[in-house]
Amino acid sequence: MTKPVFQLTVLGSRGSMASGRADFALFGGDTSCYMVRAGDETVFLDAGSGIVTAPASYPKPPVILLSHLHLDHVMGLGMFPGLSNRSQKSTLYIPFCADAALAEAKMDRVFIPPVWPLKLTELEGDLMILPMPKSLKIGSLQVDSIPGCHPDGCLVFRLRYLGKTIVYATDFEASEPSFSALAAFAEKADLLLYDAQFDESEYESRKGFGHSTAAKGLELMQNSGAKQLLLVHHAPGSTDTILLQREKKLPNVNASYAREGQTITLLGEPD
Ligand SMILES: [Zn+2]
Ligand SMILES: [Zn+2]
Repeated sequence: MTKPVFQLTVLGSRGSMASGRADFALFGGDTSCYMVRAGDETVFLDAGSGIVTAPASYPKPPVILLSHLHLDHVMGLGMFPGLSNRSQKSTLYIPFCADAALAEAKMDRVFIPPVWPLKLTELEGDLMILPMPKSLKIGSLQVDSIPGCHPDGCLVFRLRYLGKTIVYATDFEASEPSFSALAAFAEKADLLLYDAQFDESEYESRKGFGHSTAAKGLELMQNSGAKQLLLVHHAPGSTDTILLQREKKLPNVNASYAREGQTITLLGEPD
């Protein structure tokens, strides 16, 4: 029988650019990738450089959902261990595409010589590339999406499994009407991941860049009634010291900055 496990592991939470700096040791330097386990199903939220440390084989074919195609969210795909495993099937969903041909063509713009030696579909693993529908059922896991607020577009994902809910809102700028729509979409979420790339002073000079702040994350937590807030998409210059200082100031014990390697378990026994 499938174990009722629902958990999210942070494989990468850095925004914009990967870096292995010594002063990123605590929060990590790999770009956006979150591995969600829901029973036997595995779903990856984005495929930044963090996906390189994912397993090579899975009980059921893993599904990779891309919020958008900015490089920090796709750069790890060419080194995803599942795609080096001949016996492993995987599915990759591409946002904002009408059909599978366009979805594949979009990935071929990044993973193709001379930028990358092989197309994703030429790697050993058996990969299907499909357009992301508004809603998707993966076993007993329900996935829904709404558009966020980010240059070139970005999707917000909501994952529901056995009564528990995870919402992933990366690369999101808190402007209306998107911010109110997100609060409704994330209503009573058990875990809310939210873009907090900037602090308040940085944000003033970076309006329109498509990112947000911890203050807006806390406001969203309040408005949505979400139980736990995980702040993500750390700026390339945010060292461990800076993020720890910001975290200390968070007024809610259920709010924190994502640390690479941490697992949050919503159902089942923690690993
Ligand atoms: Zn990003
Ligand atoms: Zn982006």
